[in-house]
Amino acid sequence: TQFSDLGLAEPVLRAIATQGYTHPTPIQARVIPTVLDGRDVVGIAQTGTGKTAAFVLPLLHRLATEPRRAPARGCRALILVPTRELAAQVADSIRDHGRFVRHTTALVIGGARPGPQVRALAPGVDILVATPGRLLDHLGAGAVRLDAAETVVLDEADQMLDLGFLPAIRRLMAAVPKQRRTLLLSATMPKAIRTLANDFLTDPVEVAV
Ligand code: AMP
Repeated sequence: TQFSDLGLAEPVLRAIATQGYTHPTPIQARVIPTVLDGRDVVGIAQTGTGKTAAFVLPLLHRLATEPRRAPARGCRALILVPTRELAAQVADSIRDHGRFVRHTTALVIGGARPGPQVRALAPGVDILVATPGRLLDHLGAGAVRLDAAETVVLDEADQMLDLGFLPAIRRLMAAVPKQRRTLLLSATMPKAIRTLANDFLTDPVEVAV
């Protein structure tokens, strides 16, 4: 499989070429066309498999092909991650792969001052990368709205549950639209993750690598 076979928009393919990626990894080859098809996906994949680009590239494709403004304090895509380190990695991937796609990103993570995050959210952003606890704080304070999210990604879902984020995730998911695309990535698939997928994904395609 070539990247050009996956259905991605030209500015996304151009960034991939600039990155020096020659071929999609197995999870990318299976997840990207499935997401572009509009399906929800459960991806069982470890770090190092290329799982980040597997969800970042379809998000950027959508921004490139369906440009639209997020409402004030809102976002078009929400990516929930367990740690600030992973948030930074995901943000780097968005920046690298999104260099030819006009987009805005905000990072909302615990342990950082909330004021700059509130100001970054204020105009609305295309992609919001967040840890659940801090995002819930902002939601409670009215600094963010999630009712315009078109896509929700739960990255390293098993880690998020291990860190006790399940109640926060449930409250955040109650604030996103029913009509959305949802992607769940997890290294392992214990029962609690199955339940999460059952509760928040619609007829997902399961991809294991
Ligand atoms: P991840 O599993 O998302 O943490 O990605 C692991 C590493 O693989 C990252 O450094 C990516 O930049 C790199 N990577 C992801 N996809 C590809 C690809 N198709 N070709 C080469 N490297 C890749």
